[in-house]
Amino acid sequence: MKYIIIGAVAGGASTAARLRRLNEHAEIVIFEKGQYISYANCGLPYYIGNVIKDRNKLFVQTATSFAARFNVDVRVSTEVTAINPSVKTVSAINLLTGEEYTESYDKLVLSPGASPIRPALPGIQYEGIFTVRNVGDTDYIKGYVTETKPQKAVVIGAGFIGLEMAENLHELGLDVSVVEMSNQILAPVDLPIAALAQKHLREKGIHLHLNTAVTGFEKEDGRLKVQLQDKADLEADLVILSIGVRSDTKLAENAGLKIGQARGIWVNEYLQTSDPDIYAVGDAIEYANPISGQTTITFLAGPANKQGRICANNLVFGNNQKYNGSINTAIVKLFDLTLGAAGMAVKHLERNKIPHLTATIHGNSHAGYYPGAQLMTIQIAFSPENGQLLSAQVIGGEGVDKRLDVLSSVIKNKGTIYDLIEFEQAYAPPFSSAKDPVNMVGFVAENILLDRLKVIECSKLNSVEPHAALIDVRTPAEFAGGTIEGAINIPLDEIRNRLSEVPVDRPLYIFCQQGMRGYLAQRILVQNGFENVTNLSGGYLLWKTYKDEMEQAEAEVL
Ligand code: FAD
Repeated sequence: MKYIIIGAVAGGASTAARLRRLNEHAEIVIFEKGQYISYANCGLPYYIGNVIKDRNKLFVQTATSFAARFNVDVRVSTEVTAINPSVKTVSAINLLTGEEYTESYDKLVLSPGASPIRPALPGIQYEGIFTVRNVGDTDYIKGYVTETKPQKAVVIGAGFIGLEMAENLHELGLDVSVVEMSNQILAPVDLPIAALAQKHLREKGIHLHLNTAVTGFEKEDGRLKVQLQDKADLEADLVILSIGVRSDTKLAENAGLKIGQARGIWVNEYLQTSDPDIYAVGDAIEYANPISGQTTITFLAGPANKQGRICANNLVFGNNQKYNGSINTAIVKLFDLTLGAAGMAVKHLERNKIPHLTATIHGNSHAGYYPGAQLMTIQIAFSPENGQLLSAQVIGGEGVDKRLDVLSSVIKNKGTIYDLIEFEQAYAPPFSSAKDPVNMVGFVAENILLDRLKVIECSKLNSVEPHAALIDVRTPAEFAGGTIEGAINIPLDEIRNRLSEVPVDRPLYIFCQQGMRGYLAQRILVQNGFENVTNLSGGYLLWKTYKDEMEQAEAEVL
């Protein structure tokens, strides 16, 4: 059996290694048009930022070590230029020697990845405007930074990679602006959670320009000018273009393979393309999202690696292992914060008309009485029918990653909010609390699901009934420090004695700082005959950050 694999990084190298483990006698040839194989693309921003100091650490394997370990014929600097499925050959060109040849296969695997989008904006060809996709790009940026000692950087696009680049350039001492066309950073996340991150980035000195489109570039006195629609230019010595990637489908398309609706290579549940002898994995494929059922493309390393393993299993044993799709679990470090998400954001659930409820809590990373506890915010969405968990977003300091992983695994396994309630965490004061934030968000969700708690999201507070009454149940000192316009202050601990001050004939919206005291007040009021009582999800803390960030973003729209 002879296997050919195109692309030798995340998906391709995983496929090749697994194939060899399963079949010691197969012939395996892997083509890679770049110089390097199996490197850590995810580490590239941190190498540019000097967090990873040794360039060699980026290389999980070299062509030589991979060939020696797995007995694979590794052909780097060799691009596959065409696939001819009718005779089962590929055409390749050695980019160093110019030699062109064809190679036959029994089974072919495509893992060509994706290419950064580089729009045809005026001036895009100027030196100093970079994309970050591979080791070559990274060496180029690193060399440019070392040689020209830039002072100002503009990152275009506030996605995961753009923000990692912004942080790393900032840590190198550059003055960094981030330009983003949308009204928030990190498109897969809902605005209230993104707002917490935006606030933090601004506090760290990143200049965020939301609702802002780049129209072109100019060069003046050796310096770049990033031109913005209807706004003043931004000066830059270095520009990182990070506005997204597009699946590399050219080879597949030219070979007549089916391309799906999301413009990725179509594969069935066994990762087999429309040609039974050709499989595909990674950033280039599209696959049904397990929550919406719609095909989407996932640009993440974890799914690409795992697909490689499944693909090799199916190639060797026949189609017997299904790929179940990705829920897009992703995480990013933003200075002192970590932000992660899994499943479908609330805005995407709304767009897809998928019924859902939400719950938001703030909780400590570990017992509050043990030093160093850090606040985290968890927002979940779940089905109003059976409580199935549809998404989770977590932001905070320590411990965000472990909560996200738990929540992600519940979403992936089609678990419910009751799994969160029952989740049994490893607890001792330095690590968690007797009720972990994952339990807490489950408790809140259960109350919401069973109609014991009515909540309103901070993004909807503006549109409540005009005659509604707002009650701030925090302390007078907290109230004096800032509240929501029109709110009256009845502190939680006084509310039982001041029930006569609570309006009887108006819908009541209760809030505290984080949500807990509001919930307690709501329980007291409901059990005292007040029927229409709603608690502000995430409390004043989330509402205020959301409102400030919305105003800031709106101010950017001229
Ligand atoms: P790739 O790993 O990109 O490999 C495709 C390879 O195919 C490329 O090397 C390309 O040169 C080669 N190729 C293409 N066409 C041909 C051809 N015709 N002939 C020969 N070779 C060809 N994901 C995460 O989950 N977490 C992260 O933190 C994260 N950080 C990232 C940071 C950066 C800077 C980048 C660029 C990506 C990051 N990703 C991250 C995404 C992740 O790296 C990709 O999702 C993953 O690498 C996709 O695997 P793949 O095999 O599909 O494509």
